[in-house]
Order: sequence, then C-alpha cells, then structure tokens
Amino acid sequence: MMSVTAFVDGWDFVQTLGEGAYGEVKLAVNNETQEAVAVKIINLEKMPQAEDNVRKEVCVHKMLKHESIIKFYGFRKDENIQYIFLEYASGGELFDRIEPDVGMPEVDASRYFKQLICGVEYLHERGVTHRDLKPENLLLDDFDNLKISDFGLATVFRYQGRERLLEKCCGTVPYVAPEVISRKPYHAEPADIWSSGIILVALLAGELPWDEPTYGCEEYCNWKDCKITISPWNKIDTLALSLLRKVLVENASKRRTIEQIQKHQWYNKNFNKNRGMGRFPSSSPSDSPCGTGPFKRMCIDNSPGDADSDSALSRICSSQPELPPLPNRNPGTPGEDLGPTMSFSQPMHPEHMVLSQFPCTPGNSQTPMQKLVRRMTRFFVKTDKNETLIELDRACEVYGYTSRRGSPGMTTVSMKDKRGMPLVFKACLMEMGENLLLDFRLSKGDGLEFKRHFMKLRNQMKKISSKIPPLFPLMPSQQSQVAV
Ligand code: ATP
Repeated sequence: MMSVTAFVDGWDFVQTLGEGAYGEVKLAVNNETQEAVAVKIINLEKMPQAEDNVRKEVCVHKMLKHESIIKFYGFRKDENIQYIFLEYASGGELFDRIEPDVGMPEVDASRYFKQLICGVEYLHERGVTHRDLKPENLLLDDFDNLKISDFGLATVFRYQGRERLLEKCCGTVPYVAPEVISRKPYHAEPADIWSSGIILVALLAGELPWDEPTYGCEEYCNWKDCKITISPWNKIDTLALSLLRKVLVENASKRRTIEQIQKHQWYNKNFNKNRGMGRFPSSSPSDSPCGTGPFKRMCIDNSPGDADSDSALSRICSSQPELPPLPNRNPGTPGEDLGPTMSFSQPMHPEHMVLSQFPCTPGNSQTPMQKLVRRMTRFFVKTDKNETLIELDRACEVYGYTSRRGSPGMTTVSMKDKRGMPLVFKACLMEMGENLLLDFRLSKGDGLEFKRHFMKLRNQMKKISSKIPPLFPLMPSQQSQVAV
C-alpha cells in the first residue's frame, strides 16, 4: 500500500508526479472534496543554491494567469522546505504524446502548437520570457489542453514598456536559438519563438532537428542549405514546412513574430476534425536510432556585468504592481474523445492550503487514494511482483542499463546515451485491483529519448506484458503502489 502522508489539514500527498533539478513534485488531494493540486517541494537545506532560483520562479509565475499556463496557487516556506502550489496537470507531459521518429497526427500537432503560441503570446505581452520551452515543460490537463510549466528559468524582459536585452545562455541546447548561444545580447521574444518552432518539429516528426544550432552541427548546416528532402523535414507536410522555414530563421530580426505566425496558412488550416485527437498516438515499439539525446539544461552567465541579473528581476518583483488581466485567447476546445477517466477538481480555495498550519501527522490519512497521471509509458504485466522485477532487471541488463531498487516498488533505471548524456527514469510497480502495472516516468534527460528506451524495455519484456491497455479505467481505491 502506498504511504499517504497527511500534509495540510485535510490534504494528502498521494503520489509523486515528477522530479526536477531541485526537488519533487507531488500530487496533494483534499480527502473530502477530491480537489487536487500539484506541490513542488524544494528542500533548501539540501539545495541552498536553489533559494534564489525558487524566489525568482515564484516571483514570475505568480504574475501569470492564462489558460495555457499552469496556474500558480501560492507558496509557503516551512523551515527549510519551500512549497509551491500549482494547478495539477493530470494529462502528463506533451512528450508522451509524441511517437519517437513519427510524431503525431497533424491535427493534434496544430492544436497543441496553437495553444503553445497563445501561451507564449500572453507571456510576452506580460513582459515575461520562459527561456526553456520544450515538450518536457509542456503539461496537459484533463481535457488535453496544453499548459506551459516550469518557470525556473523565466525572467522579465520588459517592464513598464522598456525592453532589456538578455545575455544569459539559458535553455536546453537543441531547443535554444542560435543567438542565445552566440554570447551576444539578444531579444527575448524571438528566442522563445525559435524554441516553439523546434517543438513543432518534434510534434510533427518525432525527432529533434539538430543537437545545437551551430555551424559545427551538420544537421543544422543542412537546414541552412535548404536540404529538406532528408529527415526530419521529409516527414513534414509542405505547408507546415513553409511555416518552419520562416520560424527557424537564424537572423532573429527576420524571424516570424507571433502575430505573423498566427496569420500563416498552416496555423489557420482547418484540419479534418475526425482525424487525430486520439488521446495518444499509437505507440508501436520502434527502436530505430535517431539523432536526439538527453541534453543538459544550461544557464551560463555571459557577462560579468550581467544585464539579465537576478537583482534586476528582484527590483521588478519587489515593486511589482498588480497587473491588469489580459484577454485569454486559447483556441483549444476541450477534447471530445476523452474516454473514461476519473477526475479530480481543481481547488476553489487554494489559499487554505497555503495558509493553514502543518498538522504534522504523517501516515494519518483515512482515505488512501491515488490518481495516475495519464501516460503511455506503462504496461500491465501477467507476472507477480518479484518475477516482474527480475524481468525488469534482466531487460535492463540486455541493454546495459543500470537498475537500482529504491523505495518500495520503485526501480531507478539509468544509462548514458550515445553522446554520453545521462538519462534516468523510474519504474514503479503498482497494484491496480487484480492487476499489476509497471509505470515508467522520466527523471532526468530528454523526453523523446526516454520514450525510445521505454519502448526497447517494453519490447524486451513482451512475454510478461499483458494485453490490458495502459489506460484501463480504474477507481481510485483500486490503485496502490506495491511494497516489495
Ligand atoms: P527542472 O529540472 O526541469 O527544472 P523542476 O525542478 O523545475 O525541473 P518541474 O520541471 O517543474 O521541476 O517538474 C518536474 C516534473 O514534475 C515534470 O516534468 C512533471 O512530470 C511533474 N509536474 C510538474 N508540475 C506538475 C503539475 N502542475 N502537474 C502535474 N505534474 C507536474
């Protein structure tokens, strides 16, 4: 049985949703109302260097209110633990909807891309740049609406109508714009637009176009030379490609603006509504190697007198007035084809969580329950728990992955990809009524690469995997993490 910890009066931590560089994100559920929030937990004692970043993240995120952005409910600090309360995105991460080397139906890609562009437009109107846009930071809600998350690298680039150039080399290398790594001051908006273009390539082709946008990278040179008959470009429809040719333009001043993108024919194309919108792309095992890998997030200070400094931001934040609301424009409509799911509601009074005192009664919950984030990186098994874990270790051994048993029911699988970059994921064994589910989630590294390795493991474990689809509808009480 999963240990459920009473957190704030009436709220229980029921599940770990993910991990990041600074801590964990857990799902907290109100045991009476079933309201759910995601809580980012950062232990500042263990991670003293995180304090400044967290302060900045909170400062920026609390300014934002838009349907394509994860809602910020509040934060609190209890001794050395910092809690950030966020809207719970039950649909998981966008990369999970991308089939490696394939992508997804154009109609779905178009819908996600429009929601992304609307969110980025809102951010820019507010004078905020995200600086780390990538599918791992784009979450999905109950209705498959895209939500921009993780404002850990975000900053204010325009305040009271005055724009400042940025200098920090920020982001995840394959997604960053060329000017960001050029070590010269750059405009914030075109850099986010470039990353959105790379995301569109990932959505449409299931791979990233290059490791980095520099002349040392052959794939990037090919793009510059208009060699579009090769992968990933040959998988992309000409109209979408014509948009990409205008977005992935090296010269930031010639790159399309959001307004121009929104006028592009592909952006406005009316796709056949009956195609796509399946909640997940069909995920057939495909082990073919591809030119992507896990990439470190970077944040390198380019100049000693950094114009993009924390102090600049804290000045802005400490005197930040309440900003007037901007109109919300989200083109996505709640998906019709959602199939059977259980729903938690978002909290009506998140401030109760932020304000109430800790009762400090761990393990005191009366209603153990859990809701799994929807994702495809999981499968049911026919074997019992011990056999399953033996099979998992065996499969890891075949591919030279390291598997390490952690908390009950949890195995950490780690490896280096072909470029020597770390990829770490967790495999969690869960009891679902009569059935056993093996659920994998990314801990560190590139999302697409994680899916590729998951598929290899699933293939290797084929003989013990059951035919029950991984989205088997379940009652909350039927779910619990296995203690082994
Ligand atoms: P990073 O190393 O990318 O900076 P971080 O410490 O800032 O990570 P996040 O990226 O915000 O943490 O969150 C880590 C993971 O937790 C996400 O990839 C996602 O799987 C999960 N997660 C985060 N926020 C939410 C949310 N609001 N709802 C559901 N899951 C979430």
